[in-house]
Amino acid sequence: MPQQTVATPGLTTLADDEQLFRDSVYEFADREIRPLVREMDEQAHIPRTLVDRLFELGVMGIEIPEVFGGAGATFFHSVLAVEALSRVDPSIGVLVDVQNTLVINALLRWGTDDLKRSLLPRLANGSTGAYALSEAGSGSDAFALSTRSVETPAGFVINGRKLWITNGAEAEIFIVFATVDPDAGYRGITAFIVERGAPGFTVGRKEDKLGIRASSTCELLFEDCRVPAAHVLGEIGKGYKVAIETLNEGRIGIGAQMIGLAQGALDHTVRYVKERKQFGKAIADFQGVQFQLARAATDVEAARLMVYNAARRRDSGQPFLTEAAMCKLFASEVAERVASLAVNLHGGNGFVKDYPVEKLYRDAKIGQIYEGTSNLQLQTIAKQILS
Ligand SMILES: Cc1cc2nc3c(=O)[nH]c(=O)nc-3n(C[C@H](O)[C@H](O)[C@H](O)COP(=O)(O)OP(=O)(O)OC[C@H]3O[C@@H](n4cnc5c(N)ncnc54)[C@H](O)[C@@H]3O)c2cc1C
Repeated sequence: MPQQTVATPGLTTLADDEQLFRDSVYEFADREIRPLVREMDEQAHIPRTLVDRLFELGVMGIEIPEVFGGAGATFFHSVLAVEALSRVDPSIGVLVDVQNTLVINALLRWGTDDLKRSLLPRLANGSTGAYALSEAGSGSDAFALSTRSVETPAGFVINGRKLWITNGAEAEIFIVFATVDPDAGYRGITAFIVERGAPGFTVGRKEDKLGIRASSTCELLFEDCRVPAAHVLGEIGKGYKVAIETLNEGRIGIGAQMIGLAQGALDHTVRYVKERKQFGKAIADFQGVQFQLARAATDVEAARLMVYNAARRRDSGQPFLTEAAMCKLFASEVAERVASLAVNLHGGNGFVKDYPVEKLYRDAKIGQIYEGTSNLQLQTIAKQILS
């Protein structure tokens, strides 16, 4: 007799709590974020009141254990939140993404008990985090960073500059990568917690960007910035591990941002093509339009399967390096394609700011750049399949 097996539900089938969570985040985004999207994009600013609402909603401390005031949920929940928020505004998606998949994730994995006790309750309850690896001279080649940290009897002294730091304008807690020994190459890299207000630390210029304009992207300056020895995150000289491992996971979050964006562009377009009439009928009645939308919906579904699979593999302790790189690579391409189609199918209206799709088209581009460019994802995938 064949053994009775329980059928595995589809990859995109959500558990009851996951579905409830995803729906409540989307309803929040639709109700409270959507009315602000255009103004936030134009002013390149996220109002503090909205950030406060995100904390109240519980999406700024998703994986933080309940004892520290967080939601005690999973990485997969973070992915669902980033997707749901990005469907309405990818700028808010990335704010929440960096907070959860990079900053909190790194602290949970590498923080000492003391660091967790002091920082996690704050991150769950009002303090935003940022993750500072890139510099003017080191982007894809992240471990060529030159920010220097010198150990002294009173702790560490950091000198250097970071560039492109998401959440720089809002953050109070920064994870900063610096080298304690430039001659040691990547083995000198060390991760530090630096707090806003630390002596010698200033947040510099904010970038004026093509897309995700509301999300702040800032330069950070360290001039004899003093950091206590207890603020080393992980081991001295092992910062490269902190960076690699958190970014491997963070990539899945960017995949989630991109599928949310693509779904948002598709939502707007499906509505529009049913309303817009040409040649005496809705443009949705033209098979040429239907086929384009069918292909876009298929792309989004494929990307979502990849993102969910990578996230579920991560949560269940299975290897996910290749899947994470693939899902970010593919989801960011899908987002650009679908947002571009959305502009096309809106005609002239797709090209003006009165309609939301031109913004999503601009927002899509970043998916192929940050947390490892598409070429770097291809490099990771190639290395895995050829090894
Ligand atoms: C809006 C925004 C937000 C960001 N947020 C953060 C953040 O919060 N924290 C942070 O640390 N960084 C952040 N970054 C930085 C981002 O991660 C880097 O911009 C990215 O890694 C690329 O580095 P780069 O800009 O120096 O480009 P480069 O590394 O100079 O790359 C330029 C081009 O060369 C290609 N290239 C480089 N090396 C290779 C290679 N070996 N093979 C093939 N092609 C290659 C790249 O694919 C790319 O097309 C952000 C950037 C932006 C724009």
